[in-house]
Amino acid sequence: MESSHPIVRTRFAPSPTGFMHVGGVRTALFAWLIARQGHGQFVLRIEDTDQKREVDGSADHLITSLNALGLHYDEGPDIGGPYGPYRQSDRLAIYTTWAQKLIDQGRAYADPYSAEELQTFRELAKNEKRAFLYRNHRPEHPPTWDGTMPLRLKSDPKAYTWHDEVMGDLQTGPEVIDDIILIKSDGFPTYNFAHIVDDAEMKITHIIRGQEFIASQPNYLNIYEALGLTPPIFATMPHILGESGTKKLGKRDGAKDVLDYLADGYIEEALINFIASLGWNDGTEQEIFTREELIEKFSLDRVQHSGARFDEQRLLWMNGQHIRLLSLDELYARVDRFWPASAGSATSEHKKQILSLVQDRLKTLKDLPLLTTYFFSDPPANLTMITENKQLAKLPLTELAHLLSVSRDALTLSDYTADHLQLTLNQLLDTTGQKPGILFSLIRIAVSWAPFSPSLNDTLSVLGKATVTKRLDQAIQLLS
Ligand code: GLU
Repeated sequence: MESSHPIVRTRFAPSPTGFMHVGGVRTALFAWLIARQGHGQFVLRIEDTDQKREVDGSADHLITSLNALGLHYDEGPDIGGPYGPYRQSDRLAIYTTWAQKLIDQGRAYADPYSAEELQTFRELAKNEKRAFLYRNHRPEHPPTWDGTMPLRLKSDPKAYTWHDEVMGDLQTGPEVIDDIILIKSDGFPTYNFAHIVDDAEMKITHIIRGQEFIASQPNYLNIYEALGLTPPIFATMPHILGESGTKKLGKRDGAKDVLDYLADGYIEEALINFIASLGWNDGTEQEIFTREELIEKFSLDRVQHSGARFDEQRLLWMNGQHIRLLSLDELYARVDRFWPASAGSATSEHKKQILSLVQDRLKTLKDLPLLTTYFFSDPPANLTMITENKQLAKLPLTELAHLLSVSRDALTLSDYTADHLQLTLNQLLDTTGQKPGILFSLIRIAVSWAPFSPSLNDTLSVLGKATVTKRLDQAIQLLS
């Protein structure tokens, strides 16, 4: 079937100037979602034309981050593709060819001025209280461009109206159009020129990027026209605001490296869900989305244009929700490096059993030791857990010791399954005349000395009779 729509092709085009922060991930994610939704391609292009700002290892770090989040690209510098190379520094000849087209049409010229001369023009404009525009100083007879001078667009000042999928219909007057630099004196193109050439060559259909570029949009439109190109679809992302919801997200309030979140026990599904929700919702109350649901439901016209608040507590909550959604085997495969050291020699079967008990309680994978250490090694007793427990503090320690010893004797059943243990525990409530809030809390503390533990019968079953008996004996001694 013939389709009048081109295949959807989106790109993530980071400059290798640092690590991958939440804002960068969001841009990549939205572009990735649009591509996956349209059964098109998602392209990674490294924009390394500002050599002074480049940070060693940054491109690799960006690639590692995208892969770690499952935002796999179809074409990119490390995997190639039909429109490569995908690193701008490897494409200089391409920019020169396109620049030459503009020179030949009389739409680009060499900028002959020194920095001092330009400064004089700027000051002049300032003194006359008018905006500085380079085009007011266009040289009458520019020299032939030899690559050592900047190459500038000979602009065509005019008003523009254009549509941004997120920001709506926008317009500007001719006064914002100027003769911007296309190629710098170091031979590298500017972002302004290079991205337009690359997006055209790479057949990109949607440009999804941050707000810092929106002011230059009319100048980009001028370049598209000069090059005879139809512009792609534009979508400008809202700012991400700090917790307070007023200032732009800064390093201090969570604009950290996404790889750090993964190292801290956040899982990729939660990060993806959370970052998607920074400025987007599907119009319902739904908050937890799987990757597949996001692909199905995401749409640029539901991205808000006001700033989106970064709320780390919400991320934490979402992480717990997504941990619950994992199958036990998936979860087990992810927690490998988070087990407490004492889990070293435990079998994978035993560890899985324990994991299944705590899965619902994990907020991050880093919580694993706190929730499981007592399964692998004897926990140190902490009497304040009893003396500061509202219910237990009501009873004298000798009475508590007595309750534990009755329990120890009852909990010697040979079938140590959770079901049988529950029956025994229920009988113990009858024989002791105690409430679960007292008896079960007491046993729970005595065998774990942990702030939380899963349901008591499960805990006892996984600990096993020998360990339970030993720990109850120790606790009885301590309380007597
Ligand atoms: N290289 C630009 C940046 O990292 C990308 C802007 C764009 O997506 O076009 O900010």
